[in-house]
Amino acid sequence: MKTRPGICNRKKRFETREAAEDVAARAPFTLRAYKCELCRKYHLTSRTKGMKTPRSMLL
Ligand SMILES: [Zn+2]
Repeated sequence: MKTRPGICNRKKRFETREAAEDVAARAPFTLRAYKCELCRKYHLTSRTKGMKTPRSMLL
């Protein structure tokens, strides 16, 4: 997955995939952990195929 520098800097970083997935599992909506090519650490994305995260859940 390509990550733009601006996105990387803004996002929360996790040292390990386990840490990211642990947070993802607790979120009330679908989050996916992925490895960032820029910082070599992990971020979470709410983007899932064919499904939008309701805006109200992000606020
Ligand atoms: Zn990053």
